[in-house]
Amino acid sequence: QLPAPPDAAEPGPGLITVKVAVETPQHSGLVGALDYASERSLEPGTLVRVPLGRRELLGIVWHGGPPPAAAESADADDAAAPAAGHALRPVTAVLDALPPMQPVWLALVEFAAGYYQRSVGELALAVLPPELRKVDPTQLARRLKRLAKTLAKPPAAVPEPPLPELAPEQQAALAAVTEQAAQARPQALLLHGVTGSGKTEVYLRATALALAQGRQALVLVPEINLTPQLEARFAARFPNHRLVALHSGLTPAQRLQHWLAAHLGGADIVLGTRMAVFAPLPRLGLVVVDEEHDPSYKQQEGARYSARDLAVYRGHLSHVPVILGSATPSLETWHNAQEGRYRLQTMAARIGGGTLPRVRLFDMGVLPREKGRGGVTPLFAPAVLASLQERLDRGEQSLVFLNRRGYAPVLHCPDCGWKSGCPHCSAWRVFHKGERTLRCHHCGFTERVPRACPECGNLDIAPLGRGTEKLEEQIAALLPTARIGRIDADTARGKGELESRLAEVHAGDVDILVGTQMVTKGHDFRRMTLVVAVNPDSALFASDFRAPERLFALLMQAAGRAGRDAEAAARSEMWVQTWHPMHPLYAALKKHDYAAFATTQLSERASAGLPPFAHLALLRAEARDVAVAQAFLDEAAQIAQSLPGAEHTMVYPPVPPPVSKVAGVERLQMLVEASSRGRLQRLLSDWVPQLHWLRQQQHKRLARWAIDVDPLGI
Ligand code: ADP
Ligand code: ZN
Ligand code: ZN
Repeated sequence: QLPAPPDAAEPGPGLITVKVAVETPQHSGLVGALDYASERSLEPGTLVRVPLGRRELLGIVWHGGPPPAAAESADADDAAAPAAGHALRPVTAVLDALPPMQPVWLALVEFAAGYYQRSVGELALAVLPPELRKVDPTQLARRLKRLAKTLAKPPAAVPEPPLPELAPEQQAALAAVTEQAAQARPQALLLHGVTGSGKTEVYLRATALALAQGRQALVLVPEINLTPQLEARFAARFPNHRLVALHSGLTPAQRLQHWLAAHLGGADIVLGTRMAVFAPLPRLGLVVVDEEHDPSYKQQEGARYSARDLAVYRGHLSHVPVILGSATPSLETWHNAQEGRYRLQTMAARIGGGTLPRVRLFDMGVLPREKGRGGVTPLFAPAVLASLQERLDRGEQSLVFLNRRGYAPVLHCPDCGWKSGCPHCSAWRVFHKGERTLRCHHCGFTERVPRACPECGNLDIAPLGRGTEKLEEQIAALLPTARIGRIDADTARGKGELESRLAEVHAGDVDILVGTQMVTKGHDFRRMTLVVAVNPDSALFASDFRAPERLFALLMQAAGRAGRDAEAAARSEMWVQTWHPMHPLYAALKKHDYAAFATTQLSERASAGLPPFAHLALLRAEARDVAVAQAFLDEAAQIAQSLPGAEHTMVYPPVPPPVSKVAGVERLQMLVEASSRGRLQRLLSDWVPQLHWLRQQQHKRLARWAIDVDPLGI
């Protein structure tokens, strides 16, 4: 049973009550908005500063919504709850200079908060620029005045660049966007186009149409690494329009400035990572989600929202077209298109008549093992090496990629079997050769490499497995004349590092680019005619049911790096070294047949009762003592089974996630499955408030818990 809300307090004589959403800590439960006293009525969406306990916070005036709670009661740690009939605390300041957040924005936040089971205050405040919490109202007013002046000046007029003539498939795609834009309720559009088919050109033309109607365009990209190139293309195309970026690489001041430019309507194009889906855009006319399948669109902490899904909802709220672009759509999106919920537009041809590289599989099982050195299989098949040598001889470039970073994942003692585990996590620490350290990629715990095996004293400890650094070394030994460049999370760490390394590749100063999946996305390498996937098999047998989907996308992306130049396309190829050459995933890859792959995957998902045919939520619990997490989840499961509609939902037993211990804290997770989205949502809205209460009343030793709706990576 939930505790009753406290008796409503009074605003006081001559004052009115306003509801204000503030960022309330999770442990206080699902508080919608708190009541404050105000001298005048305030429009929903107005930003205000309000007292909460002993603090003063930024808040947003909210309309109605869930049952009211008096301000103090949400923050029992800071101050005692007011007695019934006590005066409400007044709003401290109103950020009048800023136009209120628009009703569509409030609706988006309210939807997201409900769907992902957070309080509106927590969600709203998390997606506003953090700098807004600090600025005082007069400072903000001054800043806005200056900004308004800048925005009032039209950008310096320069001639627009000439436009390329659209290919027939691009024309058809653009016509579909135009058609949807004219609808009262436009449908989202899946632009399924192979790499190099000119999807970006379609985004640019669709943006031009929106701009011509005086509207704003929102363009989402999955990774911060990909923003500079796309930003450059948009900026070059629209020199007479204002474009701002929104991502976590900006300074807090820049982020505020860009956000304000969007909110005031001064920015015509907002280009950014997942956070940008919440950019306030008063004149929104188009939403683009590039590489819509990318898992980076899912926020992995706090309110675990999917920016891709919210982008679709945002388009629906604002009645504007949404373009979801990908060469390998997520199976959820593909299914939506097959069912007619999204409109499907296909672009199968590469621009300029280039073809996709020929995919060749090398069966690693036939290779004899090397003598000595633990009897491992050689890193490269002879045929693959010969292909690399051919490229060298012709002065063409190759890409060799491995889906891992670091020199080698684990240090290993062949005598006693010791491995470099992390003492605080259930993960192995990775050997970084350059720094001679062992580093845990989960908690960051780092130590110098021991001189000898800590268990048996054996001096002959060696790395197990292979990483990009080792790959670079081996290629250098095998092909001594090759100029090798390496791009992975380690070499691209410094500011500008990635850009300068990419520039070397583009300038032709690199013959063989070695890297992690980082280099497989987005880059338009003109001279590349060979791609080698060294050992992608592990993903075929991963516990995550989405692993094959990810692998297929990764390999298709990687293949797309080669053969961009029409003349070289005919001799472009991708080698996949595998122990499972008969796997259906590779058969589909050989034919570049996404649709065939999607069809087999979807039928497997249907028979296994997995998304998109079922809907999932994951309840995570963390505690120093695993029994504490277990007890919380057990009780949570009991509650779930007693709720109305429980017969349509399934609660699985708690299990440890792939990394079950981090920094000394044990993790457990419990999957909840329902046959429809609506049923899952109904269960969650009954269940989650009870979980807040359960935690507060009985499970104080629980370190953390969280609900993840539509989880990725389970
Ligand atoms: P995708 O986003 O599908 O990978 P891009 O939009 O990046 O493809 O297009 C690939 C290349 O083809 C780019 O260099 C782009 O400038 C060029 N391109 C795209 N459309 C056309 C066109 N209609 N005419 C000439 N070149 C084009
Ligand atoms: Zn040992
Ligand atoms: Zn660790």
